[in-house]
Amino acid sequence: MKHLIYSHRRLAALVMVATGICCFVRPTLAAEGQELPPPKDEPKVVEPGPPPADAIVLFDGKDLSKWASDKGGEAKWVVQDGAMTVTKTGYIHTKQTFGDCQLHVEWATPAEVKGSGQERGNSGVFLQSHYELQVLDSYNNPTYFHGQAGGIYKQHAPLVNVCRKPGEWQTYDIIFHAPRFDEAGKLTKPGTMTVLQNGVLIQDNAEILGTTSHTGAPKYTAHPLKQPLALQDHGEPVRYRNIWIREL
Ligand code: MG
Repeated sequence: MKHLIYSHRRLAALVMVATGICCFVRPTLAAEGQELPPPKDEPKVVEPGPPPADAIVLFDGKDLSKWASDKGGEAKWVVQDGAMTVTKTGYIHTKQTFGDCQLHVEWATPAEVKGSGQERGNSGVFLQSHYELQVLDSYNNPTYFHGQAGGIYKQHAPLVNVCRKPGEWQTYDIIFHAPRFDEAGKLTKPGTMTVLQNGVLIQDNAEILGTTSHTGAPKYTAHPLKQPLALQDHGEPVRYRNIWIREL
């Protein structure tokens, strides 16, 4: 009997402690039941497309008029059948510059499989010309995890590998928040990337660690907020189509 009373007391004590914890972790109870003021601004109506009506179309399959070569002059990648193909003529970048953005890119690695690892269908989407979201044939093609398709190169591996077969079109939908620097060039806020590949989340608000680096730790170098978007020429005939961007 004495033991039973002790157990009841202990149970009561536990309930009291648990109740206390619940109250402690729910500090906003006082606000419950109060109606929030409605947002003042109605969300703008945007025809969803694709591309959405408020997007800047960077490549519609017809020409490279929005792009230039990193080597100077016009972009020299080949445009054919609604796609542009890497041609060993160097990286290309947009003539317009961007900061925070939503970016849609469709890409396909070569149907004819050649090479392995980083030498198979390698290209890349460089946000602000600095931060590479890797493009690679990662269908049955092992490489280091943060260097496979969907990786923020040598910083973050993709959460999952949702690569389609070589030659098939794939999509990247990217939400990019650019890093911020103060007037002295000191980083005040790192950049972030959220990425869906083929509709599947592969980067979830990942913090960018610095400018893409092939060797050594990435580090930030201050740059103006608006920078061109660049696509990598890694020497392999990767194709791109339907590229559009929305400034945020
Ligand atoms: Mg690459």
